[in-house]
Amino acid sequence: MSTIPPFDLSEQYKIIGDEVNAAVLGVLASGRYIGGAAVEGFEQQFSGYIGTTECLACNSGTDALYLALRALNIQPGDEVITTPFTFIATAEVISAVGATPVFVDIEADTFNLDLAQVEAAITERTRVLLPVHLFGQPVDMTRLMAIAQAHNLTVVEDCAQAVGAAWAEQKVGSIGHIGCFSFYPTKNLGACGDGGAVTTNDPQIAATIRMLRDHGRRAGGYYHEAIGVNSRLDAIQAAILQIKLRYLDTWNSQRRAVADRYRQLLQHVPGIVLPQEPAGGQGVWNQYTLRVLSPDSTNIQGEPCRRDQVRQRLQAEGVSSMVYYPLPLHLQPIYNQDQQTNHPIAEQVANEVLSLPMFPELSPEAQDRVVYSLKDCLV
Ligand SMILES: *Cc1c(COP(=O)(O)O)cnc(C)c1O
Repeated sequence: MSTIPPFDLSEQYKIIGDEVNAAVLGVLASGRYIGGAAVEGFEQQFSGYIGTTECLACNSGTDALYLALRALNIQPGDEVITTPFTFIATAEVISAVGATPVFVDIEADTFNLDLAQVEAAITERTRVLLPVHLFGQPVDMTRLMAIAQAHNLTVVEDCAQAVGAAWAEQKVGSIGHIGCFSFYPTKNLGACGDGGAVTTNDPQIAATIRMLRDHGRRAGGYYHEAIGVNSRLDAIQAAILQIKLRYLDTWNSQRRAVADRYRQLLQHVPGIVLPQEPAGGQGVWNQYTLRVLSPDSTNIQGEPCRRDQVRQRLQAEGVSSMVYYPLPLHLQPIYNQDQQTNHPIAEQVANEVLSLPMFPELSPEAQDRVVYSLKDCLV
């Protein structure tokens, strides 16, 4: 029996391969490989989908976050409040502009920022709140925006794992001042390479990002008014993304069905805590991440924990699983010098999380095997 992978992009390609091939060949024949109609068309469709007036495509989700902070003129001395339980890019860009990431602990049940602690972490240096909609589950944006407004702060949403997710009927990426998306292949809307986008309703921010992503120039001339970057979306990727965007809602509902089925099959299994969609929000299940509780699940950094044992046994039974993320950012070598605070929930959860195979085309038979093996490994 073949191993069940954590995700399988080839299944999707089987479904849309003909369309994608034709679109790619179309771009090749057009002779227009950077910018042009494919990129502009995608930007328009994507802002329409998210519900903003502006979309700026760029080279990656990391660049989208970096461009957002640059457009807000975030500088050394400024503080940006974010979560320690995320992919490194979220904090990396804060450091890249010379500002200071201020980590705030998470909630164990949503894996997202603990908003009560966000409010307590605000100082006179705080400029931006940078929530991450982790694993595709939305942060309570009503509450977060109220905190931001009360303290006159800007909100940059890291929507890399949450394209299509919504809070109170509004899509993430359209609620904060700026939304940042990644089209890395394993995201819910994935390119066949790198890609990203910024969404906003603020024409000024949009104009600044348009300038910064193209070497700090406006409208393609050779006059440079800022130190910019080269961060463009390739026309080939844009053409592919235009096609995939049409399937996104279908794929997201297939992910939801997979998640519902996992819940049905696993809800009475002891020793694990299943992920849940927050009330008031609509998630998009980029990951199905449960917690494997350890009797002694204190922070045993680097030592094998029960979760690691379960994962190893699963692998031996032909089921691949993933650990996002094994070490919270405040404990990473690049940050553990400056951070005085502990974030006990992030530290505990990092030892417990296990992401099961999750992709729209995951068959019920394969899912049954995952569940059967997991039950077996938990005994
Ligand atoms: C993937 C990801 C990013 C970075 O996106 P890239 O396109 O890989 O640069 C940022 N934040 C989070 C939460 C992500 O999952």
